[in-house]
Amino acid sequence: MTKIAEIKEESPSLNLTVKIVTVREREYENDKGKGTYYFGIIGDETGTIPFTAWVFPPTVRQNDVVELRNCSVKAYNERLRVYVNSRSEVVLRPNDTMEVLRTYVEYKVKNLTTRDQYVAVSGIISGIQERKYSKDGKEGIVYNGFFRDETGTVRLSSFGVKLKEGLKAKISGARVQEYRGRIRISVNENSVITPVEFPEPQIPLYRITELANGISGIEISGICVLVGERSGLIMRCPECRRRVEGDRCEEHPGETPVKDLYAYFTLEDGTSTIQVSAGKDAMKGYTGLDVEELDYTPEERQSVSEKVMEKFLGKPVLLLGESVMSGQGLNFRALEVHPVDKNVISRVESLMKREVN
Ligand SMILES: [Zn+2]
Repeated sequence: MTKIAEIKEESPSLNLTVKIVTVREREYENDKGKGTYYFGIIGDETGTIPFTAWVFPPTVRQNDVVELRNCSVKAYNERLRVYVNSRSEVVLRPNDTMEVLRTYVEYKVKNLTTRDQYVAVSGIISGIQERKYSKDGKEGIVYNGFFRDETGTVRLSSFGVKLKEGLKAKISGARVQEYRGRIRISVNENSVITPVEFPEPQIPLYRITELANGISGIEISGICVLVGERSGLIMRCPECRRRVEGDRCEEHPGETPVKDLYAYFTLEDGTSTIQVSAGKDAMKGYTGLDVEELDYTPEERQSVSEKVMEKFLGKPVLLLGESVMSGQGLNFRALEVHPVDKNVISRVESLMKREVN
């Protein structure tokens, strides 16, 4: 029998006795027809490893101890994974118990992906807000906030486990999820939060080509090469946040639309381009336009459109915000827009010299 900690390379055949830490099933379809496969995490006293089972007894459940005979190990997404296939044998050991040593791969915020569901991350906990909730008749407290390292910020939530504002911590066993194109992590009673010391991370500046998955708390800089003609002073439905062209939202005719400022433009930085949107708060600081002081009249709308064109078209800017995956691909939502000064130029210069990682 091999122990999980001894698995260091690919192998055509080995035998393991493991506990099923997590297991999920998924349908697949190929030229031979439809089927179900299973995947998750298996573990023993020495560690954990992901697995995929093409053939698996449907009676096997989470926390069961099983013997896997003649399974194989292959690399998938740069990580070793145990495969159970038609040559393998899965033997349930109903009377056995096993203590699993949980191990997690350490991730930087920018590399978090739902392909790896439970991970270890190190960073700063901030912006924590408490909220009461009730579910299935039980009352609880959820803590929502942010988790930041030198590569970006993700939303962090915790059901029940109190999170300390400003704590520099390593979280082992954080769960990675995706919601509306954004990655978020959550902690539960099985996660381990350990205080650690490291220098205060700077807000990272990215090349557009490096923006891969939805991460927030990052900066990009470039030139606004195209500005959307419909940018400017608009009306929005307060319920669905959609732009309203008439005086009522078609789906929410009972709601009174509210004024909003909005710009969308294409930013180019020499490595690539990205579509950017900026709302009223981001616009206010940079353009001086305050939505509260504007009237929704044709004259005012015209003058706002001209001001937006003047401040954005052909201008270099520094944007703080988040990359969001949508149906049209990756977009950037700007929360702050700043003019480019000497300090920004020197940061951009060192960024462009750096090796792509
Ligand atoms: Zn609406």
